[in-house]
Amino acid sequence: MNLLQDKNVIITGATRGIGKGIAQVFAKNGANVAFTYNSSVEAANELEKELQSYGVKAKGYQSNAADFNAAQDFVANVLKEFGSVDVLINNAGITKDNLLMRMSEADFDKVIEINLKSVFNLTKAVIRPMMKQRKGSIINMSSVVGVKGNAGQANYAASKAGILGFTKSVALELGSRNIRCNAIAPGFIETEMTAKLDENTVNEWRKAIPLKRGGKPEDIANACVFLASDMSDYITGQTLNVDGGMLT
Ligand code: NAP
Repeated sequence: MNLLQDKNVIITGATRGIGKGIAQVFAKNGANVAFTYNSSVEAANELEKELQSYGVKAKGYQSNAADFNAAQDFVANVLKEFGSVDVLINNAGITKDNLLMRMSEADFDKVIEINLKSVFNLTKAVIRPMMKQRKGSIINMSSVVGVKGNAGQANYAASKAGILGFTKSVALELGSRNIRCNAIAPGFIETEMTAKLDENTVNEWRKAIPLKRGGKPEDIANACVFLASDMSDYITGQTLNVDGGMLT
């Protein structure tokens, strides 16, 4: 059964890692995918072709999620080309880790803009069309770090915790219009983002996870399929930890 047959889905930041995994699993489940990226033009073209090979409509857009006007233009283009937006997945995110003593103002601002303000930008752009169709699912990518904090990631933790407050507020505001808004808090998912970490740290993390492995992008994608599909029609305002038991 294709759980997402003919749903039009926006995914921000899908040229690598978790976003790419979501795009692939969604296309295999019958969803049409409009995705964004920041600078990886070649990876975007390749992904576009791969998704189309699953028999769905797919298009990549170079669009900075942190830029309010760019986000409005991007969603307007998707509406023109896809006809509607059924699901928004706010996935784009970056890290600029440092101990607070050494963290610059620019690195704080950048992480908040790309990780948190982007969620506001895209959500603002989709809620009007979703309200008109009286249905929509918004999924925001938070992190275990947003739930419990992490030394060396004050900027990132603040952005991801901010997403949780935003998610619950949107759920409360738009529930009466049948727009659902949930967050996913991935644990340690092995992607290019985490490949920057040193191998000893990574091994320690793996050992500390109850399921004894890092997550895969597909682990997050599968949770997104559930929250995007009609299977979760009565679930809103929640944070789903997809972390191998890390926060247990
Ligand atoms: P990643 O491999 O670094 O990929 C990030 C993606 O976001 C890329 O496609 C990148 O596009 C895009 N992007 C970056 N800045 C953007 C911007 N300003 N506008 C639009 N797109 C932008 O990251 P990931 O590990 O897959 O993480 C994806 C999300 O999950 C992030 O929100 C992250 O915080 C969250 N998360 C990850 C983990 C983990 O363990 N990996 C754990 C918890 C939460 P370009 O290729 O063009 O740069």
